[in-house]
Amino acid sequence: MPVVTSALPSWTRLRLRQSAHLRDLCSEISFTTAHLIQPIFVVEGLEGTEPIAGLDGNSRLGLHAGLETIGRDVAAGLRHFLLFAVPSHTGSATADGAFAARVVEAIKRRFGTQLHLWVDVCLCSSTADGHCAISDERGRIDLAATLSALGDLAVRVADAGADGVSPSDMMDGRTAWLRQSLDARGHQPVPIMSYSTKFASQFYGPFREAAGSAPRHGNRAHYQIDVRSRTDAIASSIRCAEEGADLLMVKPGMTSLDLIAPIREATARLVGAYQVSGEYAGLCALGREGLADVDAALLETWHVFRRAGAAFIITYGARRARAIGVPA
Ligand SMILES: [Zn+2]
Repeated sequence: MPVVTSALPSWTRLRLRQSAHLRDLCSEISFTTAHLIQPIFVVEGLEGTEPIAGLDGNSRLGLHAGLETIGRDVAAGLRHFLLFAVPSHTGSATADGAFAARVVEAIKRRFGTQLHLWVDVCLCSSTADGHCAISDERGRIDLAATLSALGDLAVRVADAGADGVSPSDMMDGRTAWLRQSLDARGHQPVPIMSYSTKFASQFYGPFREAAGSAPRHGNRAHYQIDVRSRTDAIASSIRCAEEGADLLMVKPGMTSLDLIAPIREATARLVGAYQVSGEYAGLCALGREGLADVDAALLETWHVFRRAGAAFIITYGARRARAIGVPA
């Protein structure tokens, strides 16, 4: 009488893993380039491109270079882009959005419906202190002024043709305010993909250089979530869903895998994962040291995001996807 030690006898596992065809048959995870979102940094006044330290294959781009880069990405099967428009002048604190609107117009004029353009909505590339909010003279967040500036920015880029907006600031009430602001200007069809569960993290370093958004003083721990706070992390996404977010997100993605399914279940909304700059740069660094095959490692992490229930993945490696073997 054989003793069955697990539900799946070991010979079955061995048999089903012996060829690529069988492994593919048994795989439960699949995705295409339609599930990936490529971030893109367009910098006012920049001519050409400026590589971003650590983020292989990603640069700060002048407008012309940005259009060229997006053209190549679209040809390589990418459909979704998350735009960070970085104005040359900081300190206005209100982020009038003029530059972002110009970039959006130029991209949509060139590519139309070939792509879906999400636009990051935050103030940290514009505020003098690099924070995501407008502060009063004592350094306290002025929520009313911040929400008002965010709403104006969202409307401005939607007027310019943005296909979706993506608030990343983590201010209370900003999703509801953006929805209300957009609707009041006839932008009911514009979806909000909210950075709904965003932790204070060490993994944002390369991004802050790229977006010129490193805080000049202090950190963001007073408005981003503490990594130890699971309840707060889920509640933050529930709040965004209740306020009208159409899509939710965890960030950083690789350190938030455990939260994707609980948030989806709690909100009945699709949840994506942002594989942030430090996570991507870490894989690139392993590759440079000869300690990992970056492409294989990237693909592995994307499969894990999908296994964890991520509907979409924002990643600096999206433009490598076709070359890695992700189908279009
Ligand atoms: Zn910000």
